[in-house]
Amino acid sequence: MTPVNKADKLSPDASEKGDLSMPAKVDMDKIVSLCKRRGLIFPSSEIYGGLASCWDYGPMGVELKRNVRDVWWKSIVHERADVVGLDTSIMMHPGVWTASGHIDSFTDPLVECKSCHLRWRADAVEGKGCPKCGGELTEPRMFNLMFKTSMGPVEEEASTVYLRPETAQGIFVNFDNVITTSRKKLPLGIAQIGKSFRNEITPGNFIFRTREFEHMELEYFVKPGTDEEWLDYWVKERFDWYVKLGIRKENLRLRQHGKDELAHYARDCYDVEYLFPMGWSELEGIANRGDFDLIQHAKHSGRELSYYDAEAGEKYVPYVIEPSAGVDRSLLAFLVDAYDEEEVGGEKRTVLHLHRSLAPIKVAVLPLSRNEKLTPLAKEVFNKLCPNFVTDYDDSQSIGRRYRRQDEIGTPFCVTIDFESLEDKQVTIRERDSLAQIRVPVEELGKILEAKLKGEAFDASPLWATREK
Ligand code: ATP
Repeated sequence: MTPVNKADKLSPDASEKGDLSMPAKVDMDKIVSLCKRRGLIFPSSEIYGGLASCWDYGPMGVELKRNVRDVWWKSIVHERADVVGLDTSIMMHPGVWTASGHIDSFTDPLVECKSCHLRWRADAVEGKGCPKCGGELTEPRMFNLMFKTSMGPVEEEASTVYLRPETAQGIFVNFDNVITTSRKKLPLGIAQIGKSFRNEITPGNFIFRTREFEHMELEYFVKPGTDEEWLDYWVKERFDWYVKLGIRKENLRLRQHGKDELAHYARDCYDVEYLFPMGWSELEGIANRGDFDLIQHAKHSGRELSYYDAEAGEKYVPYVIEPSAGVDRSLLAFLVDAYDEEEVGGEKRTVLHLHRSLAPIKVAVLPLSRNEKLTPLAKEVFNKLCPNFVTDYDDSQSIGRRYRRQDEIGTPFCVTIDFESLEDKQVTIRERDSLAQIRVPVEELGKILEAKLKGEAFDASPLWATREK
């Protein structure tokens, strides 16, 4: 458990324990260390000692994060006719947060130790005393999780604005704009990806719970009475999305919220949970928000927010189903699930079995050595591939070490150029998971890689195939 420590320096926080009914297969330290070593994720402001719960995505991490966003956007927006996208501002009119209930209800109970003055989330403290020093704790007080700032050059109450704690409200307040301009009928979804901010009392577990993170949210507006059906539909869709992207089914489960646990706006809610290293914890929430948000915003803004169904000749306030996921938390689940340590030819290799659509680098071009005879062909191959695939070029150190480096960041294919390639204009493709290798003509390399990256089997022809020893 991590207190809100006054200096808020980087701390190895393991604040949150999920349901520990099953042991996870990899501990978080290994993931954090791989992320640092391979340029995926660094502690924020590290040269100043870091800032608790803030993380920076490095050269590999930024590619992985973009891929998580892209695969979500593709499946939710581009591959559907009934969802459109939106990108709203982080700072909104303060009235939005009064209407949504965030000013009054977006709180966690906070207690402070009277001896060491560390602060804790009351519902996460076991026993009566301070988890650090055993000191007496204050009575809980409700702590609002929204970050406040002021807009414009004058700092006064009237200029107070909040950093949004969710992207959903940007969607609700634009409901009418989207409905009237998109000419779409209900059911209609509006999707958004963007930063959210929550002044969490106990952040921790690496990027699982941070104070700044990215949301991927869909608000799917439906006719009242069809909402339960659509909730079931989206729960299944969202669960299957993780499975399609390679997460093992046994590491995922669904949990319905109990009546006493439901948020003030929710009629029903399911969590997709993942077996993180600290135990089963929420990965995504899928809620039936009813008409709460549109009714509230209509009341507070004075603008009517309803839908006219021309075919049925009726007007109603839609209900909304909300699948709400975190980019960072999904990315962590993908990393944990992909992580593996194997033995190859008596040597240990660490490998990320990332789904090809998520892998930061798709193809690595590796000349056998940094030899002046090999370099021109290797560069030619790189130049041919890089407009079409995210491609790395690496000619330093032994080929074995370069393979290991690509395995650790989950690169699905390595292309090796050797001295024979100069004669026969053929190169070797090596596949990350099976370690099978095939030899193909340079001319056809792009076409073959494209097919393999779309999911075509890596069925190494017996004539060509070898397995890395
Ligand atoms: P929790 O119970 O873990 O605090 P929540 O139920 O408040 O989460 P939602 O408001 O439903 O979370 O947000 C939807 C998703 O956004 C979560 O399932 C998670 O993936 C992500 N998320 C929420 N808060 C954070 C955070 N502080 N850091 C990283 N991701 C977050």
